[in-house]
Amino acid sequence: MAASHSLFASSLKLTSNQLLHHYRCPLKRIVSISGGFSRSRIRVLPLYHKAHGLSTTSSAVATDSTDSTDSAVLADDKGLGEAPPEKIVLPTNESSERLLRIRHTCAHVMAMAVQKLFPDAKVTIGPWIENGFYYDFDMEPLTDKDLKRIKKEMDRIIGRNLPLIREEVSRDEAQRRIMAVNEPYKMEILDSIQEDPITIYHIGGEWWDLCAGPHVEYTGNINRKAVELESVAGAYWRGDEKKQMLQRIYGTAWENEEQLKAYLHFKEEAKRRDHRRLGQDLDLFSIQDEAGGGLVFWHPKGAIVRRIIEDSWKKIHIEHGYDLLYTPHVARADLWKTSGHLDFYRENMYSQITIEDELYQLRPMNCPYHILIYKRKLHSYRDFPIRVAELGTVYRYELSGSLHGLFRVRGFTQDDAHIFCLEDQIKDEIRGVLDLTEEILLQFGFSKYEVNLSTRPEKAVGADDIWEKATSALRDALDDKGWSYRIDEGGGAFYGPKIDLKIEDALGRKWQCSTIQANRLDLSFTKEVDFNLPQRFDITYVDSNSEKQRPIMIHRAVLGSLERFFGVLIEHYAGDFPLWLSPIQARVLPVTDTQLEYCNEVTNKLKANGIRAEVCHGERLPKLIRNSEKQRIPLMAVVGPKEVETQTVTVRSRFGGELGTMIVEDFISRTKSATENRTSF
Ligand SMILES: [Zn+2]
Ligand SMILES: [Zn+2]
Repeated sequence: MAASHSLFASSLKLTSNQLLHHYRCPLKRIVSISGGFSRSRIRVLPLYHKAHGLSTTSSAVATDSTDSTDSAVLADDKGLGEAPPEKIVLPTNESSERLLRIRHTCAHVMAMAVQKLFPDAKVTIGPWIENGFYYDFDMEPLTDKDLKRIKKEMDRIIGRNLPLIREEVSRDEAQRRIMAVNEPYKMEILDSIQEDPITIYHIGGEWWDLCAGPHVEYTGNINRKAVELESVAGAYWRGDEKKQMLQRIYGTAWENEEQLKAYLHFKEEAKRRDHRRLGQDLDLFSIQDEAGGGLVFWHPKGAIVRRIIEDSWKKIHIEHGYDLLYTPHVARADLWKTSGHLDFYRENMYSQITIEDELYQLRPMNCPYHILIYKRKLHSYRDFPIRVAELGTVYRYELSGSLHGLFRVRGFTQDDAHIFCLEDQIKDEIRGVLDLTEEILLQFGFSKYEVNLSTRPEKAVGADDIWEKATSALRDALDDKGWSYRIDEGGGAFYGPKIDLKIEDALGRKWQCSTIQANRLDLSFTKEVDFNLPQRFDITYVDSNSEKQRPIMIHRAVLGSLERFFGVLIEHYAGDFPLWLSPIQARVLPVTDTQLEYCNEVTNKLKANGIRAEVCHGERLPKLIRNSEKQRIPLMAVVGPKEVETQTVTVRSRFGGELGTMIVEDFISRTKSATENRTSF
């Protein structure tokens, strides 16, 4: 995976469906393309210089490195430029019509500039997107130098303050004009337009494009200092690899210079935090060509973080009355037939495996296994609630082109759980899930959530009463919890209502993570199960009248998947894990190798006390310190002749600076208590 691939480009990676929208976009009404994580109308970006200070309950990363003269660390922070304003509210296409008009106009201005400089270039489409716009051209490959020339030409067009003039023409007239300028792609676009008449926009009297608007009135309404061309990439016409490879130029455009600056800073920060880069630099994980795309290798340091997450996850679940399960990664295809997955989830599943003439299937979900365990016993209404949880690894088919670091993979471990309960227990159970979710997320400093409650869609299955009961139970649980939430009317899956929760990271980005769904088991447990098919898993309990009933099943995940959550954590902390989570908590550094023996002694003591420590030597001390900073080690215990003599260490904290000399036992107890309390040293 190319490391240079920016987070933004990836967040703009389009599905074929979106591409279709893009393609139609210039000709239709406003089509909003939301890329990635931002759905909110106004995005508030808390921007931090050096961005170590997270507003979290974990104070391990509370302050800037005050004494960092370390060139590696400085180099690491380079590119952030001067400190930007503390908080900038960036408008979005949804929140600012003016911005949307600017971006759309910019796409045309860029196309005009390109054709001026490269008369042979053929135009295709140019929509606005999340942070700006792009336009695809059929032309020779462009370089960064070309982008500068194109931007200069755009500036000239903007400077001339040309009017944008709308004209309606007949289909025949549009055809005639397109033929006259020999634009074959425009002809294809024209063919796909359903509505008549056709609208054309002119820039001055010099250039025109098929478009339905909206635009600014004059090119001069664009602030040229708020526009930047960002990159050029190959893109297939209509996203089809069998079609012509085009040159796609991405640009960003804002209402004013301050917004552009804030955006560029945000982008730089996001790049600095890119989990794929940090994953490599800090030796946390890899995805290897030899093994295949989307399959994650957790290296020792990444595995430590995962183990800590898993341990604390298990502990909290046990405290909340869950039983833990382990179930197989494969099962007979018949099981997936019964569950309905083979009929309705097949496109997300891998080909089957033959074992002794029987077909087996890698699991895409854990639910059927948990149902199988439930079914091993007869259940009475008195047994409920039954809560089972599993860190269940599943495999789902993803197109190779859509794979993205830890965010989109082919094999991942869900922190899955199912609660079997009675109808009148739904609310309390959901409330319990909300509490547990908060408890887990707060550990990592995620205290801001965007919560959605999705209700019954028009096409839904299942009895009205259970929909109503489940939906109001979800709502009551949220009200009870005191969380504000948005109701997505009709946005639920057709088999049950759901709550989903996005967490906000240190950069103000939102990440989908937890989901909670409730349904009755005669309603299915997976997406898109056809209810006209015969009963699937016949699961029941016996009620107080000795009659068989179907229980409610709540499906939930808190972190979503360990892989994705780890990726979010890396970016949230920018690789600077707090002490309790850091793969290596302390490095013991000798001033010269004469102190090595004592250093080993200290390290062994630390390890014996459960502190993740290692010795580093063989370089001069400043280099050892620099390397440790680069590896984001929270604590350094420096040892010179005096420390050996007095059986002490001199402690330096990544964010707290020099903490002075202390006896080894003190260092150990302070590190232990900071780890236990999840605070900084
Ligand atoms: Zn337009
Ligand atoms: Zn489930």
